[in-house]
Amino acid sequence: MARYTGPVCKLCRREGTKLYLKGERCLSGKCAIDRRPTPPGQHGVSRRQTKEYGLQLREKQKVKRYYGVLETQFCNYFEKASKLEGMTGPNLLTLLERRLDNVVYRIGLAESRKEARQLVLHGHFRINGKKVNVPSQLVKVGDVITLAEKSRSKEKFKTLIDKLDTRISPKWLEVDREHISAKVLALPTREDIDFPFEEHLIVELYSK
Ligand code: SF4
Repeated sequence: MARYTGPVCKLCRREGTKLYLKGERCLSGKCAIDRRPTPPGQHGVSRRQTKEYGLQLREKQKVKRYYGVLETQFCNYFEKASKLEGMTGPNLLTLLERRLDNVVYRIGLAESRKEARQLVLHGHFRINGKKVNVPSQLVKVGDVITLAEKSRSKEKFKTLIDKLDTRISPKWLEVDREHISAKVLALPTREDIDFPFEEHLIVELYSK
């Protein structure tokens, strides 16, 4: 399965914003965006004005990098979003938000989406009691996502479980801290996504 394996802070610097790809480090003084908020590369800040196409392209890259999906997969999400009822831009974001790796991260059982992806691949989660190892699986209303019984004693999860009480989960997910699980109460809406994406730019890009 193809995935980006390069330095992730570089991606934030390229987009000029924090994409929260490294967990705790993103909130610390070590964040590269706080220390050096210039684009990566030899020449740093460009004097060129960003044209319409450039803005649209950057917005697409920002969303892809935030959710950790590659180009082909992103195109598939866009196509699916355009066929759904309602506006394509918000549909696109809410589809991505429903990915299992994102849900695991939102619950607080991974420090970042990248880590969540790894943990899902390694089979640490169940949906409605069944083992799942596909990070892109979309959750549905009523699904219950649980941390596997045998994974709970692992040091990694012990630390994350201890921190669950301090996490604020989105209102479309009901987290049961006692049973280390979460129920999908409703599908996420655009308002549930707290990142200031300008998704209309992506729609404009694909409409050309
Ligand atoms: Fe981005 Fe986090 Fe790196 Fe900061 S620490 S640049 S938010 S990945």
